[in-house]
Amino acid sequence: MAEKRQFLGIMFECCHVYGRIYKNKEGTAYEGRCPKCFKHVSVRVGEGGTSNRFFKAY
Ligand SMILES: [Zn+2]
Repeated sequence: MAEKRQFLGIMFECCHVYGRIYKNKEGTAYEGRCPKCFKHVSVRVGEGGTSNRFFKAY
């Protein structure tokens, strides 16, 4: 079985750059860092997964 790394498209408002963040091991949240300033962001996964495909990090 192929294990898919689920990711989320995210706009980092801090630097106005678009990037991706990936689901953590526990599958409870998407976590990643801004590619420019390396600010850590996390987006919690809602019940049944998030319906929103795009998020903004402030
Ligand atoms: Zn940034």
